[in-house]
Amino acid sequence: MTISFFETKELGEEHLRKKLEKTSEKIFFSSEKIDAENLPKDNSAQIISIFVKSKITKEVLEHFPNLKYIATRSTGFDQIDTEECAKRNILVSNVPRYGANTVAEFTFALLLTLSRKIYQSYYRLKEEGIFSTEGLGGFDLNGKALGVVGSGNIGRYVIQMAKGFGMNIVAYDVKPDEEFASKMGFEYVALDKLLSVSDIITLHVPLFKSTHHLINMENISSIKRGAYLINTSRGAVVETEALVRALDEGILAGAGLDVLEEEVMMHGDFRKSESKIIQANKKLIEMDNVIVTPHNAFHTKEALIRILDTTVENITGFINGKPINLVEE
Ligand code: NAD
Repeated sequence: MTISFFETKELGEEHLRKKLEKTSEKIFFSSEKIDAENLPKDNSAQIISIFVKSKITKEVLEHFPNLKYIATRSTGFDQIDTEECAKRNILVSNVPRYGANTVAEFTFALLLTLSRKIYQSYYRLKEEGIFSTEGLGGFDLNGKALGVVGSGNIGRYVIQMAKGFGMNIVAYDVKPDEEFASKMGFEYVALDKLLSVSDIITLHVPLFKSTHHLINMENISSIKRGAYLINTSRGAVVETEALVRALDEGILAGAGLDVLEEEVMMHGDFRKSESKIIQANKKLIEMDNVIVTPHNAFHTKEALIRILDTTVENITGFINGKPINLVEE
Protein backbone atom coordinates (compact mmCIF):
# COMPACT_ATOMS: atom_id res chain seq x y z
CA MET A 1 0.00 0.00 0.00
CA THR A 2 1.08 3.58 -0.66
CA ILE A 3 -0.13 6.24 1.74
CA SER A 4 0.17 9.98 1.12
CA PHE A 5 -0.34 12.33 4.04
CA PHE A 6 -1.06 16.01 3.39
CA GLU A 7 -1.02 19.02 5.74
CA THR A 8 1.28 17.23 8.20
CA LYS A 9 3.64 18.72 10.76
CA GLU A 10 7.05 17.19 11.61
CA LEU A 11 6.00 15.81 14.99
CA GLY A 12 2.96 14.12 13.48
CA GLU A 13 5.03 12.62 10.67
CA GLU A 14 7.35 10.88 13.13
CA HIS A 15 4.41 9.46 15.10
CA LEU A 16 2.57 8.25 11.98
CA ARG A 17 5.67 6.77 10.32
CA LYS A 18 6.60 4.77 13.43
CA LYS A 19 3.13 3.29 13.75
CA LEU A 20 2.47 2.64 10.06
CA GLU A 21 5.82 1.56 8.61
CA LYS A 22 5.02 -2.16 9.04
CA THR A 23 1.71 -1.89 7.17
CA SER A 24 2.82 0.04 4.10
CA GLU A 25 5.52 -0.01 1.44
CA LYS A 26 5.59 3.71 0.84
CA ILE A 27 4.55 6.61 3.05
CA PHE A 28 4.76 10.16 1.70
CA PHE A 29 4.35 13.29 3.79
CA SER A 30 3.62 16.79 2.58
CA SER A 31 2.97 19.87 4.66
CA GLU A 32 0.93 21.27 1.73
CA LYS A 33 -2.83 21.09 1.40
CA ILE A 34 -4.31 19.30 -1.59
CA ASP A 35 -7.00 20.66 -3.91
CA ALA A 36 -7.64 21.01 -7.65
CA GLU A 37 -4.99 23.78 -7.87
CA ASN A 38 -2.43 21.91 -5.73
CA LEU A 39 -2.16 18.38 -7.07
CA PRO A 40 0.94 16.40 -6.10
CA LYS A 41 3.17 14.94 -8.85
CA ASP A 42 3.06 11.45 -7.32
CA ASN A 43 -0.45 10.09 -7.75
CA SER A 44 0.19 6.44 -6.90
CA ALA A 45 -1.46 6.51 -3.44
CA GLN A 46 -4.18 4.01 -2.57
CA ILE A 47 -4.72 5.87 0.69
CA ILE A 48 -4.60 9.61 1.32
CA SER A 49 -4.91 11.43 4.63
CA ILE A 50 -5.80 15.13 4.87
CA PHE A 51 -6.83 17.77 7.40
CA VAL A 52 -9.22 20.73 7.12
CA LYS A 53 -7.52 23.00 4.55
CA SER A 54 -7.62 20.48 1.68
CA LYS A 55 -10.58 20.20 -0.69
CA ILE A 56 -11.23 16.79 -2.19
CA THR A 57 -13.27 17.42 -5.34
CA LYS A 58 -13.98 15.27 -8.41
CA GLU A 59 -10.81 16.72 -10.07
CA VAL A 60 -8.66 15.61 -7.14
CA LEU A 61 -10.21 12.13 -7.12
CA GLU A 62 -9.56 11.83 -10.87
CA HIS A 63 -5.88 12.61 -10.22
CA PHE A 64 -5.49 9.44 -8.08
CA PRO A 65 -6.40 6.41 -10.26
CA ASN A 66 -5.58 3.89 -7.49
CA LEU A 67 -7.29 5.71 -4.62
CA LYS A 68 -9.40 3.47 -2.38
CA TYR A 69 -9.51 5.23 0.97
CA ILE A 70 -9.41 8.73 2.47
CA ALA A 71 -8.68 9.23 6.17
CA THR A 72 -9.37 12.79 7.24
CA ARG A 73 -7.71 13.68 10.52
CA SER A 74 -10.67 15.91 11.42
CA THR A 75 -14.17 15.30 12.76
CA GLY A 76 -15.83 17.40 10.04
CA PHE A 77 -15.63 15.95 6.52
CA ASP A 78 -17.32 18.74 4.54
CA GLN A 79 -14.04 19.31 2.66
CA ILE A 80 -14.56 15.96 0.86
CA ASP A 81 -17.07 15.33 -1.94
CA THR A 82 -18.41 12.17 -0.29
CA GLU A 83 -21.05 11.60 -3.02
CA GLU A 84 -18.30 11.46 -5.67
CA CYS A 85 -16.26 9.15 -3.40
CA ALA A 86 -19.25 6.78 -3.09
CA LYS A 87 -19.63 6.66 -6.90
CA ARG A 88 -15.97 5.63 -7.17
CA ASN A 89 -16.11 3.13 -4.27
CA ILE A 90 -13.66 5.21 -2.26
CA LEU A 91 -14.25 4.87 1.48
CA VAL A 92 -13.92 7.85 3.82
CA SER A 93 -13.20 7.81 7.57
CA ASN A 94 -13.01 10.68 10.03
CA VAL A 95 -11.85 11.06 13.63
CA PRO A 96 -15.20 11.27 15.37
CA ARG A 97 -14.33 11.69 19.02
CA TYR A 98 -10.87 13.16 19.55
CA GLY A 99 -11.90 16.54 20.71
CA ALA A 100 -15.31 16.70 22.32
CA ASN A 101 -13.95 18.13 25.58
CA THR A 102 -11.26 20.07 23.68
CA VAL A 103 -13.74 21.97 21.50
CA ALA A 104 -16.24 22.37 24.36
CA GLU A 105 -13.51 23.93 26.53
CA PHE A 106 -12.69 26.35 23.69
CA THR A 107 -16.38 27.22 23.33
CA PHE A 108 -16.34 28.46 26.93
CA ALA A 109 -13.00 30.20 26.33
CA LEU A 110 -14.67 32.25 23.58
CA LEU A 111 -17.79 32.83 25.65
CA LEU A 112 -15.90 33.95 28.77
CA THR A 113 -13.65 36.19 26.66
CA LEU A 114 -16.82 37.97 25.55
CA SER A 115 -18.78 37.86 28.80
CA ARG A 116 -15.90 39.17 30.96
CA LYS A 117 -14.20 41.40 28.37
CA ILE A 118 -10.92 39.51 28.83
CA TYR A 119 -9.37 40.81 25.61
CA GLN A 120 -10.25 44.45 26.39
CA SER A 121 -8.94 44.06 29.98
CA TYR A 122 -5.67 42.55 28.77
CA TYR A 123 -5.27 45.21 26.05
CA ARG A 124 -6.03 48.04 28.50
CA LEU A 125 -3.30 46.98 30.88
CA LYS A 126 -0.63 45.54 28.60
CA GLU A 127 -0.92 47.83 25.57
CA GLU A 128 -2.25 51.02 27.20
CA GLY A 129 -0.69 50.66 30.66
CA ILE A 130 -3.94 51.73 32.33
CA PHE A 131 -5.04 49.90 35.53
CA SER A 132 -8.74 50.74 35.47
CA THR A 133 -12.03 48.83 35.26
CA GLU A 134 -13.83 51.67 33.47
CA GLY A 135 -16.08 50.15 30.76
CA LEU A 136 -14.96 46.59 31.51
CA GLY A 137 -18.17 45.39 33.19
CA GLY A 138 -19.37 42.00 31.96
CA PHE A 139 -22.25 39.64 32.65
CA ASP A 140 -22.71 36.38 34.60
CA LEU A 141 -23.25 33.05 32.87
CA ASN A 142 -25.08 31.77 35.96
CA GLY A 143 -28.82 31.84 35.31
CA LYS A 144 -28.50 32.63 31.58
CA ALA A 145 -30.25 30.59 28.88
CA LEU A 146 -27.85 28.64 26.65
CA GLY A 147 -29.17 27.34 23.32
CA VAL A 148 -27.12 24.38 22.07
CA VAL A 149 -27.59 23.64 18.36
CA GLY A 150 -26.41 20.05 17.84
CA SER A 151 -26.20 17.79 20.89
CA GLY A 152 -23.64 15.30 19.56
CA ASN A 153 -20.26 14.61 21.11
CA ILE A 154 -19.23 18.26 21.48
CA GLY A 155 -22.71 19.63 22.23
CA ARG A 156 -23.06 17.16 25.12
CA TYR A 157 -19.80 18.26 26.68
CA VAL A 158 -20.91 21.88 26.34
CA ILE A 159 -24.18 21.02 28.09
CA GLN A 160 -22.34 19.32 30.96
CA MET A 161 -20.01 22.28 31.38
CA ALA A 162 -22.90 24.76 31.14
CA LYS A 163 -24.57 22.94 34.04
CA GLY A 164 -21.45 23.64 36.10
CA PHE A 165 -21.87 27.34 35.35
CA GLY A 166 -25.51 27.20 36.51
CA MET A 167 -26.92 27.94 33.06
CA ASN A 168 -30.42 26.98 31.86
CA ILE A 169 -30.20 24.89 28.72
CA VAL A 170 -32.35 24.29 25.66
CA ALA A 171 -31.16 22.29 22.66
CA TYR A 172 -32.06 21.63 19.05
CA ASP A 173 -31.04 18.46 17.18
CA VAL A 174 -32.54 16.38 14.35
CA LYS A 175 -31.93 13.34 16.54
CA PRO A 176 -32.85 14.43 20.06
CA ASP A 177 -31.56 12.23 22.89
CA GLU A 178 -34.42 12.44 25.38
CA GLU A 179 -32.68 10.19 27.91
CA PHE A 180 -29.67 12.54 28.05
CA ALA A 181 -32.04 15.53 28.21
CA SER A 182 -33.92 14.18 31.20
CA LYS A 183 -30.67 13.14 32.93
CA MET A 184 -29.19 16.62 32.42
CA GLY A 185 -32.46 18.47 32.99
CA PHE A 186 -32.87 20.31 29.70
CA GLU A 187 -35.46 20.42 26.94
CA TYR A 188 -35.27 20.00 23.16
CA VAL A 189 -37.09 22.76 21.26
CA ALA A 190 -37.49 23.82 17.61
CA LEU A 191 -34.69 26.00 16.20
CA ASP A 192 -36.83 29.15 16.03
CA LYS A 193 -37.82 28.74 19.67
CA LEU A 194 -34.18 28.18 20.67
CA LEU A 195 -33.18 31.38 18.89
CA SER A 196 -35.93 33.36 20.60
CA VAL A 197 -35.21 32.25 24.19
CA SER A 198 -31.41 31.91 24.31
CA ASP A 199 -29.09 34.53 25.79
CA ILE A 200 -26.22 32.62 24.21
CA ILE A 201 -26.48 30.40 21.12
CA THR A 202 -23.69 27.89 20.49
CA LEU A 203 -23.37 25.86 17.26
CA HIS A 204 -22.22 22.22 17.23
CA VAL A 205 -23.71 20.70 14.07
CA PRO A 206 -21.62 19.32 11.18
CA LEU A 207 -21.69 21.21 7.88
CA PHE A 208 -24.15 19.22 5.76
CA LYS A 209 -26.50 20.41 3.00
CA SER A 210 -29.17 20.49 5.72
CA THR A 211 -27.11 22.71 8.03
CA HIS A 212 -25.67 25.07 5.39
CA HIS A 213 -26.77 28.59 6.44
CA LEU A 214 -28.85 27.15 9.29
CA ILE A 215 -28.65 30.65 10.77
CA ASN A 216 -29.66 32.95 7.94
CA MET A 217 -31.26 36.21 6.80
CA GLU A 218 -34.76 34.79 7.44
CA ASN A 219 -34.31 33.51 10.96
CA ILE A 220 -31.94 36.12 12.45
CA SER A 221 -35.03 38.15 13.30
CA SER A 222 -36.08 35.32 15.66
CA ILE A 223 -32.92 35.78 17.77
CA LYS A 224 -33.53 37.25 21.24
CA ARG A 225 -32.31 40.86 21.09
CA GLY A 226 -28.88 41.22 22.69
CA ALA A 227 -27.96 37.52 22.51
CA TYR A 228 -24.43 36.25 21.82
CA LEU A 229 -23.50 33.67 19.16
CA ILE A 230 -20.62 31.22 19.51
CA ASN A 231 -19.57 29.19 16.45
CA THR A 232 -16.91 26.48 16.75
CA SER A 233 -18.57 24.17 14.17
CA ARG A 234 -18.11 25.31 10.55
CA GLY A 235 -18.31 28.84 9.14
CA ALA A 236 -20.94 28.06 6.50
CA VAL A 237 -23.45 26.93 9.14
CA VAL A 238 -24.04 30.69 9.44
CA GLU A 239 -24.83 32.98 6.49
CA THR A 240 -22.04 35.54 6.97
CA GLU A 241 -24.04 38.48 5.58
CA ALA A 242 -26.84 37.69 8.03
CA LEU A 243 -24.36 37.55 10.91
CA VAL A 244 -22.91 40.95 9.99
CA ARG A 245 -26.43 42.39 9.76
CA ALA A 246 -27.45 40.89 13.13
CA LEU A 247 -24.38 42.49 14.76
CA ASP A 248 -24.83 45.83 12.96
CA GLU A 249 -28.47 46.02 14.01
CA GLY A 250 -27.84 44.98 17.62
CA ILE A 251 -29.87 41.77 17.28
CA LEU A 252 -26.67 40.10 18.44
CA ALA A 253 -24.62 41.86 21.12
CA GLY A 254 -21.50 39.95 20.16
CA ALA A 255 -20.05 36.79 18.67
CA GLY A 256 -17.20 34.35 19.30
CA LEU A 257 -16.14 32.62 16.08
CA ASP A 258 -13.48 29.96 15.63
CA VAL A 259 -14.62 29.26 12.09
CA LEU A 260 -15.53 31.48 9.15
CA GLU A 261 -17.31 30.83 5.90
CA GLU A 262 -14.75 30.19 3.11
CA GLU A 263 -11.90 30.33 5.62
CA VAL A 264 -9.77 28.14 3.33
CA MET A 265 -9.35 31.25 1.17
CA MET A 266 -7.88 33.13 4.15
CA HIS A 267 -4.58 31.34 4.57
CA GLY A 268 -2.64 33.88 2.46
CA ASP A 269 -3.05 37.65 2.67
CA PHE A 270 -6.84 37.69 2.72
CA ARG A 271 -7.08 41.42 3.40
CA LYS A 272 -6.87 42.27 -0.30
CA SER A 273 -9.40 39.62 -1.39
CA GLU A 274 -12.36 40.93 -3.38
CA SER A 275 -14.63 38.04 -2.40
CA LYS A 276 -17.79 39.34 -0.73
CA ILE A 277 -17.64 36.69 2.00
CA ILE A 278 -13.97 37.34 2.78
CA GLN A 279 -14.72 41.09 2.95
CA ALA A 280 -17.56 40.31 5.38
CA ASN A 281 -15.19 38.09 7.41
CA LYS A 282 -12.75 40.98 7.57
CA LYS A 283 -15.52 43.19 8.89
CA LEU A 284 -16.30 40.60 11.59
CA ILE A 285 -12.62 40.40 12.59
CA GLU A 286 -12.52 44.19 12.99
CA MET A 287 -15.66 44.47 15.16
CA ASP A 288 -14.94 45.22 18.85
CA ASN A 289 -17.74 42.94 20.09
CA VAL A 290 -16.57 39.95 18.00
CA ILE A 291 -13.68 37.66 18.75
CA VAL A 292 -12.40 35.53 15.87
CA THR A 293 -9.81 32.77 16.20
CA PRO A 294 -8.20 30.88 13.28
CA HIS A 295 -9.94 27.46 13.56
CA ASN A 296 -7.95 26.66 16.68
CA ALA A 297 -10.54 24.94 18.90
CA PHE A 298 -9.19 21.43 18.21
CA HIS A 299 -5.62 22.43 18.98
CA THR A 300 -4.32 20.92 22.21
CA LYS A 301 -1.44 18.49 22.63
CA GLU A 302 -3.78 15.82 24.00
CA ALA A 303 -6.22 16.18 21.09
CA LEU A 304 -3.42 16.02 18.51
CA ILE A 305 -2.22 12.70 19.91
CA ARG A 306 -5.78 11.34 19.89
CA ILE A 307 -6.14 12.48 16.24
CA LEU A 308 -2.95 10.69 15.18
CA ASP A 309 -3.78 7.49 17.10
CA THR A 310 -7.30 7.27 15.65
CA THR A 311 -5.93 7.96 12.15
CA VAL A 312 -3.50 5.05 12.57
CA GLU A 313 -6.40 2.82 13.75
CA ASN A 314 -8.51 3.99 10.77
CA ILE A 315 -5.76 3.24 8.25
CA THR A 316 -4.77 -0.13 9.72
CA GLY A 317 -8.47 -1.07 9.94
CA PHE A 318 -8.85 -0.33 6.22
CA ILE A 319 -5.66 -2.21 5.28
CA ASN A 320 -6.85 -5.23 7.31
CA GLY A 321 -10.25 -5.23 5.59
CA LYS A 322 -12.09 -3.92 8.65
CA PRO A 323 -12.59 -0.19 8.04
CA ILE A 324 -13.83 1.85 11.00
CA ASN A 325 -15.20 5.37 11.55
CA LEU A 326 -16.70 5.49 8.05
CA VAL A 327 -18.62 8.73 7.52
CA GLU A 328 -22.21 9.21 6.47
CA GLU A 329 -24.08 12.45 5.92
P1 NAD B 1 -21.41 14.79 16.20
O1 NAD B 1 -21.62 14.10 14.89
O2 NAD B 1 -21.09 13.99 17.41
O3 NAD B 1 -22.71 15.68 16.55
C1 NAD B 1 -23.40 16.44 15.61
C2 NAD B 1 -24.85 16.57 16.02
O4 NAD B 1 -25.52 17.40 15.07
C3 NAD B 1 -25.61 15.23 16.06
O5 NAD B 1 -26.28 15.07 17.29
C4 NAD B 1 -26.58 15.33 14.88
O6 NAD B 1 -27.81 14.64 15.11
C5 NAD B 1 -26.80 16.83 14.79
N1 NAD B 1 -27.26 17.25 13.48
C6 NAD B 1 -26.87 16.79 12.25
N2 NAD B 1 -27.57 17.42 11.27
C7 NAD B 1 -28.40 18.28 11.89
C8 NAD B 1 -29.38 19.22 11.43
N3 NAD B 1 -29.64 19.36 10.12
N4 NAD B 1 -30.05 19.95 12.35
C9 NAD B 1 -29.81 19.79 13.68
N5 NAD B 1 -28.92 18.91 14.18
C10 NAD B 1 -28.22 18.17 13.30
O7 NAD B 1 -20.29 15.88 15.92
P2 NAD B 1 -19.35 16.61 16.99
O8 NAD B 1 -18.18 15.76 17.31
O9 NAD B 1 -20.19 17.11 18.10
O10 NAD B 1 -18.79 17.81 16.11
C11 NAD B 1 -19.66 18.79 15.54
C12 NAD B 1 -18.91 19.60 14.51
O11 NAD B 1 -17.92 20.41 15.17
C13 NAD B 1 -18.06 18.77 13.53
O12 NAD B 1 -18.84 18.22 12.48
C14 NAD B 1 -17.06 19.78 13.02
O13 NAD B 1 -17.58 20.46 11.89
C15 NAD B 1 -16.94 20.78 14.19
N6 NAD B 1 -15.60 20.71 14.81
C16 NAD B 1 -14.85 21.84 14.86
C17 NAD B 1 -13.59 21.83 15.45
C18 NAD B 1 -12.76 23.08 15.53
O14 NAD B 1 -11.53 22.99 15.70
N7 NAD B 1 -13.36 24.26 15.46
C19 NAD B 1 -13.08 20.63 15.96
C20 NAD B 1 -13.87 19.48 15.92
C21 NAD B 1 -15.13 19.53 15.34
